[in-house]
Amino acid sequence: MVETKKVVIIGCGNVGMSYAYALLNQKTYVNELCLIDLNKERVEGEVMDLNHCLAFSPSTMKIEVGDYSCCRDADLIVIAAGANQKPGETRLDLLKKNASIFKGIIDNVMASGFNGIFMIATNPVDIMTYITQKYSGLPHHKVIGTGTSLDTARLRYLIGDKLKVDPANVHGYVIGEHGDSEFVPWSNVNVGLQKISDFLYEDDMKEIAEDVKNAAYEIINKKGATYYGIGMTLVKLTNAILGNEHAIAVVSNYDETNDVYIGLPAVLDGNGISRKIFFDLTKEEEKKLQNSINVIKENIRELFEWFWGHEPKSHLENHRLLNDVPKSNLKEDF
Ligand code: NAD
Repeated sequence: MVETKKVVIIGCGNVGMSYAYALLNQKTYVNELCLIDLNKERVEGEVMDLNHCLAFSPSTMKIEVGDYSCCRDADLIVIAAGANQKPGETRLDLLKKNASIFKGIIDNVMASGFNGIFMIATNPVDIMTYITQKYSGLPHHKVIGTGTSLDTARLRYLIGDKLKVDPANVHGYVIGEHGDSEFVPWSNVNVGLQKISDFLYEDDMKEIAEDVKNAAYEIINKKGATYYGIGMTLVKLTNAILGNEHAIAVVSNYDETNDVYIGLPAVLDGNGISRKIFFDLTKEEEKKLQNSINVIKENIRELFEWFWGHEPKSHLENHRLLNDVPKSNLKEDF
């Protein structure tokens, strides 16, 4: 009997559909795909279009328009739903909107009886992953964000391009917040077995790190949104989980000491995050990581202040407060 691996995508815009299309174009473990979006008509069109690829796809897949009942037996739910930042809107405005949207989504998913793994792509991804864990009450290892895995793919591409080496042979990560405070711990970057400092001057490293950080802004300026890169990233993470691959990826995972989700390397398998990878940082890199943690904490604090007019006092209170958020405080009027 063929084992069914079912994925539900919630949010079928640029990112959700790039992921779906990338899944169809590769050999993956997924053989059932269910699509949910507020815009049901669009999803109907997307499902028809995807089904027409099956004749040429390396995969066999049942693809259908879904509702929340299809989450019940899903192995993995990928969320790419949300509002995008509008001109003049602050980052906090976006966070309030997406935190409100997620309340409805996660409540619906959990009401279906879902007990699988969440993979979050919606921005600000570290905070949306944190919120998803609090809203759902699922264990931390089953709630994962894409973190800095796309940024890491960009880093490996840029180094590979500069050195004329296959990015697969570039070993290193972008870590921290998926945002402006992310950074490259260069002391851990290798090409093949050689230290990166054997190949690049400090100025080159600085330039590459800046290009990685600004890549999303540049793509958005030129074409309005970024989606192919994150689509492929999501396939890679999906395979690691559904294929029980024990693959290392730099995903948004839970840091208990600081009560934040943040992009750091971890091993992914059928249970989600099976363990974290610990590695040495220089004093300067440690400071950068702490700064990134502080940025995320400050965002969470601002969100709590907006929801309840006061700061969270403990991890447990965070959990209770996020579960009890009054409906009238959700920003659903957009
Ligand atoms: P988009 O506007 O094209 O798609 C968003 C979709 O969400 C829309 O189809 C909308 O109808 C749907 N939606 C909104 N509210 C919903 C709800 N309550 N239930 C179901 N569906 C709902 O946006 P996009 O370009 O696909 O981007 C999606 C998200 O992914 C954004 O937050 C973006 O910033 C983020 N993103 C993350 C990364 C990363 O590295 N993690 C990279 C690129 C984009």
